[in-house]
Amino acid sequence: MADTESLLDPAMVYSLVAELKGVFPKLRDHPALVRSTTLEIIDLCQGDKNWTREQQLHWLLDAMRRKWRRWQSIPAIVELFETRFRDPRKPATTYPGLGPKPSIDCERCSDNTHFQNESREIVWCSCEAAIRMRAQCPDYVDMLNRINKMRASSKKK
Ligand SMILES: [Zn+2]
Repeated sequence: MADTESLLDPAMVYSLVAELKGVFPKLRDHPALVRSTTLEIIDLCQGDKNWTREQQLHWLLDAMRRKWRRWQSIPAIVELFETRFRDPRKPATTYPGLGPKPSIDCERCSDNTHFQNESREIVWCSCEAAIRMRAQCPDYVDMLNRINKMRASSKKK
């Protein structure tokens, strides 16, 4: 699953998120929000049995436009996504209704290509899927760590 094919093109997602500036003025004033939203959406929209990554992306952007009167937050994006899809970062056991998760090749990272170490830092796995992803998107894990740091600091406020 989590090979390079399972990620959306960051430049494409970024330009679509930037278009939301027309609907959500807050995005105009906070370019970092556009970046972090882009990364979150790439991480969320990995496709599933019935939906491609692009279909999930367009569903999500459309739902934000239709349902939000003003800009909300990254966790709200995840919640919105979860009204329709499974968050690919959560273990399948938290979704008993969806049946067993398809078999995975790498037990260490569950084919996510990365995992959290004891100091809660996200690190690359060493499996084949991770090596491919790393070649394609070398900054990916750094970006995830940055998002986590931003989340942690916004929780403290
Ligand atoms: Zn792995």
